[in-house]
Amino acid sequence: MKYLDEFRDGRLAQGLAARIRREIEPDRRYALMEFCGGHTHAICRYGIEDLLPAEVRLIHGPGCPVCVLPSGRLQAAIDLVERERVILCSYGDLLRVPGAQGDTLLKAKARGADVRMVYSVSDALEIARAQPDRSVVFFAIGFETTTPPTAVVLRQARREELGNFSVYCNHVLTPPALRALLATDFSSPHQEAATRGAGVVNGFIGPAHVSTIIGTRAYEFVATEYRRPLVIAGFEPLDVLQSILMLVRQLNAGEVRVENEYTRAVGAEGNRKAQQLMEEVFEIRPSFEWRGLGELPNSALAIRPEFADWDAERRFAVPAIQASDHKACACGEVLRGVKRPEECKVFATACTPDHPLGSCMVSAEGACAAHYHYGRFRQAVAS
Ligand code: SF4
Repeated sequence: MKYLDEFRDGRLAQGLAARIRREIEPDRRYALMEFCGGHTHAICRYGIEDLLPAEVRLIHGPGCPVCVLPSGRLQAAIDLVERERVILCSYGDLLRVPGAQGDTLLKAKARGADVRMVYSVSDALEIARAQPDRSVVFFAIGFETTTPPTAVVLRQARREELGNFSVYCNHVLTPPALRALLATDFSSPHQEAATRGAGVVNGFIGPAHVSTIIGTRAYEFVATEYRRPLVIAGFEPLDVLQSILMLVRQLNAGEVRVENEYTRAVGAEGNRKAQQLMEEVFEIRPSFEWRGLGELPNSALAIRPEFADWDAERRFAVPAIQASDHKACACGEVLRGVKRPEECKVFATACTPDHPLGSCMVSAEGACAAHYHYGRFRQAVAS
């Protein structure tokens, strides 16, 4: 298959891994964080860590949109569908993410709430058109990649004057989350002790899909303000290995630049049309809670007042709910990169993909799910 198999060639992967091994400096540490859940999945699926020398350590970051949604926002969605008797349309992963005290949208559905799984925001719009006597709410989540389609559908709903459709907006922004991670003093002795050294990040593997929208320029602050190199990488195993090699070379040379490995899809400015759409329909929220990172300023989007009639939070006065995660759950630490999934006390015991206690085990892009699905295989091969 053109443009796919080429990026999964095992022989080339071995060659890249050998180059990385040759070029690392034994006294140097290379702790590299991949921000994106898609990269986490690729790293676990293709066993990329097994190809790397011990000096290179990969750290998973908060790049899974399902994982970073806090329990309170989920509980608010459960409250909305049960209290207002709306049709709540959601992606499948979200149905199983625990809200307060382990409640989920799936359990709400079992109690009689009208929760429907959709594959896109357009599906939700279609349900609203087909059932004009019911209120339909789309539970919108995701980074800059999934935001433009929500904007398109909101414009369409306004054009059609579709009064029974609205969006519960939980779209979040990548650069503020990166900034929050970088603003944490990873190298402080306290942080070192608290995390057994896991919190030191020397460089970043930048997201693929998000970067097609926001472009490489959006990450310049990582290099200029925080003095860390960042390489935007595609999702295939050779993309990830090549980006690691590029980071190793920058660190060896003492350089801090934003580089683009994923040139076949990402440009400096990103997708201006998608950016304009987002600006037309959304505005920046002053503050938004992220699971694991807490309240982050200017890190999420709200629907502009011009689209207020299609904003579920205004229409239904969705409550702000504070809900805590299961007390044994280490999702917050996993999302900050200070714990590996296996270091959570309940990983693969009380918490499994069939019975998830935390969001990182639910989503296909979650670090715990990726380790669970591919880690056992790796352990079996090693033994
Ligand atoms: S194993 Fe389960 S409870 Fe522990 S961090 Fe992962 S998702 Fe959360």
